[in-house]
Amino acid sequence: MNTRTHLTPLTWAFALSFTAIATPTFGLETQPAADPPNIIFIFTDDHASQAISAYGSKINQTPNIDRIANQGMRFDNCLVTNSICGPSRATILTGKYSHRNGFYTNKDTFDGSQQTFIKLLKDAGYNTAMIGKWHLKSDPTGFDYWHVLVGQGLYYNPRMIDNGTPVKIQGYATNIITDLALDWLDNKRDKDKPFVLMFQHKAPHRPWRPGPDHLTLYDDQTIPAPDTLFDNYDGRGSAARMQEMTIAKDLNDNDLKLNTPKGMTDEQLAAWQAAYEPKNKAFRDANLQGDDLVNWKYQRYIKDYLRCVASIDDNIGRMLDYLDETGLAENTLVVYCSDQGWYLGEHGWYDKRWMYEPSLKTPLIARWPGVIKPGSVNQAIVSNLDIAQTFLEAAGVNQPDDMQGQSLLPLMQGESPANWRKSFYYHYYEYPGWHSVRRHYGVRTQQHKLIYFYNLDEYELYDLLADPNEMHSVYNDPAYADIRTELHAELKRLRKDLAVGEDPVPMPEDPKEHVPVTPRTPR
Ligand code: CA
Repeated sequence: MNTRTHLTPLTWAFALSFTAIATPTFGLETQPAADPPNIIFIFTDDHASQAISAYGSKINQTPNIDRIANQGMRFDNCLVTNSICGPSRATILTGKYSHRNGFYTNKDTFDGSQQTFIKLLKDAGYNTAMIGKWHLKSDPTGFDYWHVLVGQGLYYNPRMIDNGTPVKIQGYATNIITDLALDWLDNKRDKDKPFVLMFQHKAPHRPWRPGPDHLTLYDDQTIPAPDTLFDNYDGRGSAARMQEMTIAKDLNDNDLKLNTPKGMTDEQLAAWQAAYEPKNKAFRDANLQGDDLVNWKYQRYIKDYLRCVASIDDNIGRMLDYLDETGLAENTLVVYCSDQGWYLGEHGWYDKRWMYEPSLKTPLIARWPGVIKPGSVNQAIVSNLDIAQTFLEAAGVNQPDDMQGQSLLPLMQGESPANWRKSFYYHYYEYPGWHSVRRHYGVRTQQHKLIYFYNLDEYELYDLLADPNEMHSVYNDPAYADIRTELHAELKRLRKDLAVGEDPVPMPEDPKEHVPVTPRTPR
């Protein structure tokens, strides 16, 4: 095993006993590594691993994200605690589940006074920066420098906040965020300190507006659709039939680029209309119906999504090139991650939220020369919950015992710790809310998944080996009675160990409180 010389004995002690002992932080001196690594966290919003070639994408190529995987480790089982944007971001910063960091749904505001790994790294001597999409409502805390999109952020000419000062920057968000990140690395950071840079993109979030360089990419191709595009949800409970996130019915004209976008310069708009108007005219003339219409919507949706991903990949290439050219690559831990997975037509859907695999799993790739073996793949159950503790251990900083994850460093070093988690707890809270996904929690093991839609009092159970697309719940199948009993016990244990307690969020089921989705595409 290739290891680094800077790891201190204390770090090794953590590596060997990372969950066996409590490690109180406060009041104790931290033990920074002798040569602490820089950390760049490359984060995207809603990027499914099905759209990354390192994960075997059948629909696109991502050569620059693949560089990170080829030179580092790809995690194939990274599960999120709560599959939606703000809660995932809060979990990453705090190393805690929603019920511990107070951020349950996108309606919440992050309590920036709480402990984050960023603050702990700053206290240990790191220079800290947050550039791009923040989306936690309160101002960032613990950062020496922050420059973030306002709210969700716009793809074109976004309003941003530069260390507290509102600014508007002309251009395309993915390029702008990269420009700002490279400028910070080159001109603004304290070069006497190790740094942690949160390099966080808006793309490829809805409404999937491609940048000027990719407006006609894929125009001459038909992108393969997933096998489950026309899922009728017969094999599961009622929740899947009550959602509002189908490609068939729930994409609106803005999503489908059938209207004129706002907020563009004349030049940007001219390029946009040159790309879309001929295609839109052909679509209107064709007067498609039924499955033909759904297939057209899928092609429009997936191509725009992949165009946004292409810009992400190009800009990650710019960042990796900069690290290579400056020599920073050698002592920098680079992590690529999305805030959750996403549906690229699986089950007929776009969006996220569910405990089903496409939204439960998120891409996670890490590169650290001398520590992580190039081209390695890991199948352990890991999580966005683990990122905070991973970065702390990498920096040689103690991990507070109130964090709820596990440092990934042993896995990165090629170890298979005997006490690594065998199961994972999930909890989604945002209902009533966009897309009408009912609240649920559950447990996922390497092979099975038990989901409880608790306001509906419905369970679903899937065998991920026999049924990887989760098309048939076997909850009531006698052949799975023992598994069902084991998973119920495991779910109970996890909820107790994680101190989930009673659901603290009101659970209105009154239809009047239901939040409607955006207007549906007329037709
Ligand atoms: Ca997201």
